[in-house]
Order: sequence, then structure tokens, then C-alpha cells
Amino acid sequence: MTPATTFAGRTVALFGLGGSGLATALSLQAGGARVLACDDNPDSMARAAAQGIATADLRDADWSHFAALILAPGVPLTHPAPHWTVERAHAAGLPIIGDVELFCRERALIAPQSPFVAITGTNGKSTTTALIAHLLAQAGRDVQMGGNIGTAILSLAPPAPDRVHVIELSSFQIDLTPSLNPSVGVLLNITPDHLDRHGTLDLYAGIKARLVMASDLAVVGIDDTPSRAIADAITGSVVRIHVGDAAPEGGLVARDGAVFAADGTRLADLSGIGTLRGAHNWQNAAVAIAVVRALGLGPEAIAAGLKSFPGLPHRMEEVGRRGRVLFVNDSKATNADSTDKALTAFHDIHWILGGKAKAGGIEPLAPLFDRVAHAYLIGAATDDFAATLEGRVPYTRCGTLDAATRAAAEAAALSPAPEPVVLLSPACASYDQFKSFEDRGDQFRALVKSLD
Ligand code: ADP
Repeated sequence: MTPATTFAGRTVALFGLGGSGLATALSLQAGGARVLACDDNPDSMARAAAQGIATADLRDADWSHFAALILAPGVPLTHPAPHWTVERAHAAGLPIIGDVELFCRERALIAPQSPFVAITGTNGKSTTTALIAHLLAQAGRDVQMGGNIGTAILSLAPPAPDRVHVIELSSFQIDLTPSLNPSVGVLLNITPDHLDRHGTLDLYAGIKARLVMASDLAVVGIDDTPSRAIADAITGSVVRIHVGDAAPEGGLVARDGAVFAADGTRLADLSGIGTLRGAHNWQNAAVAIAVVRALGLGPEAIAAGLKSFPGLPHRMEEVGRRGRVLFVNDSKATNADSTDKALTAFHDIHWILGGKAKAGGIEPLAPLFDRVAHAYLIGAATDDFAATLEGRVPYTRCGTLDAATRAAAEAAALSPAPEPVVLLSPACASYDQFKSFEDRGDQFRALVKSLD
């Protein structure tokens, strides 16, 4: 744990005790602050109380006694409307900050030069964060990974001169971190997302821009208009990353499954690395390579680390092989945009899809239908998706994931293709039949294992 000492001897209000909130409260207490914590969920309040955190309904509190409001990133700061705690904090003139801000303040106090890599973007944050951490760990570095992925930032070991913190940040977390100053800041890409929580694309892009503007070194993917504009506006050091033909000046380019420096030097070969398939993963890999090179990793260490990258569960995750048939769990693909990436990465696809459909359905995927040998429909979207596939892709109404997996495995085994793929990439939310996309992917993995 990293004790947050910045409020030692003072009292702070904390709202949001799910996920990172509890870790934040414990860290503040360990650093000598008095914490009064609150959550709408009585179970979360009870869990915090059981761990020795003082809880109270902050509606009844005297806010003039607080030094700050510590807010969980899931709680609306501005859009669609400020949470009531935000209004109370504004009225009392209090700073409103999150756990990453507490980490940054602590780092400034105890190890201001310690390497701190912060990663944001609309898509690919978790993959890139995990890849950077993996490359560094494989090269023998002391690495702490967390933030928006896995462990809450204040549950990690404290900053130290030879310890690298690799931290995924959502826009919500950046919004709550006024003194964010990573040694290496990453912006992967910006596409419209979460606009309900950020108002407009400009506001959303402005929040993401803050991360790279405040970094000693910025690594920026320049393949969308807002990100390119941000890269051009950075006055300090910036490495531009492009997926395409030519490398940007001083930057890296990913092309045909390889990553090159601006002078044409081949820095890495990604072909044959199953966990880094697809142009979107080339972007993630090129970004990760730029970051670890800046932290001193050489070509051999990078090549070895890329090869052994296990990937993240539920994102084009290889979960088994039976003969020539490859089984891939892409349960994280809850919309057509994500499924597009998976269909692009494979041929001879036995595609399991369906669930709770998103607006627009699977019509945007029509240009990729020729890669699909057969579709296996599950869940509530069955009728809608059958209508879209009619006359274009042969399909079977399977109802459940269990039936779909068995039918797809049988048909794929009979395929003459060199590497038929049974792909769960549902293009749907999971809630009609599963607890979460993780639950859906875990069940698929277990079903594939049970085929043996
Ligand atoms: P995040 O943490 O930003 O949600 P993940 O690494 O978990 O991102 O990837 C989620 C999904 O986003 C993947 O399954 C894939 O469909 C898509 N994706 C991953 N990387 C990229 C990228 N660089 N550009 C566009 N889409 C991507």
C-alpha cells in the first residue's frame, strides 16, 4: 500500500466505496488523515465500517470541517449533472480529487524522479498497460501495474527511484487529478465514447490531452483527428505512433505486422504473436515499444517480452486448439466496432454472436461477412441478427452458448480450411444470459475445455 500523507491530521470526506474507494480510505487513514466515508450502497458502507473506516451520511455532515472531497471516478463530476457531494464540496470551497491525485502528491514527496507511466485513450488502454508492464517485468524491472486495470493505485507499493508504476487512467480519473505529471504519458486514440459523462467530444479530448501535455515524454497515436491535433499542440518531447505506411518524423510506424523507427530500422516483428493480432494491436504494441525504449529496454528484451505476452482474458484470447481448430474468446467485444477487429484478424470463422444488441446491430460488419463460414446465434438478439445475416451468411439459431459452442466446434472440425476458428465475439452486451462479459467469456473457456 502507498499511504497518502497529504491530509495528515485533517479530515476529508470520501464518496464512493466500491472498487478503489475502500483502498483510498485505508491509504488516507494510514497516512494520518481522518476519513468520513459514504456510499449509496449500504453493503459498501458496512464493508468499509468492518475495516475500521468511519462512515456517515455526508448529507448530514458539516462540510466546513473537511479539507477535501475525495471522489470515486464512477461518480459524476460534471455530466450529466454534478453529484450532490460535488455541489456540497463546491459550496464549501473544497478541492475535489481522486486516488490518482493522492498518488501523484505522494510521489512528489517521496520519489519525484521515479518512473511513472500513465496510459489513456478510448480503446486499448488495458492491453497496452498490460503489455508495457509485461515487457518491463520480463526485462527484470521492478514494476507496479494498476489504476483502472486490476489493483487500485494506492494499493500498489509506493513510488521508489527504481520502481516503475504503469498506470491505466480513464478520463474520469484524469479529471480528478489536477497535479498529474507522469514521466511518460500515453494517449492511444480518441473516438466518441462516454460523451454522456463528458458533454462533447472537445471536452472529452481536452481531458485526455491533459495527461500527455503534463508528461515529461508523450507517446501519442496520431491516427484520429483529435489525437493528431493534441500531438501537434504538445510543446515538449513527443513520439508519434502511426499505423500505416510511413513513420512520422521522430516516431514509429506499424506496418504489415512489424514496427519500424523513422529511419526504417525494424524494431519488432509481431507476426506469429497470437496475442497481438490485428492492426489495433499493432498500435498498442508500437506504443508499448516506444515507452519501454524510452525507459532503456533494448531490442532483445523487447523481442523476448513481446513473444511471451500472455494477452488479456476476453480480448481475442486463444482458449484452446483441437486439431487445426483454434478457439478464441473475444467476449469483451460488446459492440460491432470491437467485433470488427476480431473478424478482421481471422479467416474461416465459425462465429458465435448475440446477447443484448446495441443500436445499429451487426449491419456495419457486412463487409467482413465473407470471412465467416457459419454464424451461431445466441440470446435476445437472435431474430434481429438472423434478419441481417439472411441470404449473406449461413446461420443456426442455437439459443445458448453451450449449444452454440458444441455446434461450432463440430462444424469447424469438418472444415477443410488450414486453421478454422471458433470465435466468440458477440457484438452484444451479456446481461440477457450472463452476469457480465467476463462471466460469458469464462463460461466459453470452460465449455471449450470440456470438449476434450
Ligand atoms: P480499454 O481498456 O481501453 O477498454 P482493451 O485493451 O481492454 O481497451 O481492449 C478492448 C477492446 O478494444 C478490444 O477487445 C478491441 O476490440 C478494442 N481495441 C483494443 N486496442 C485498440 C486500439 N488500439 N484501437 C482500437 N480498438 C482497440
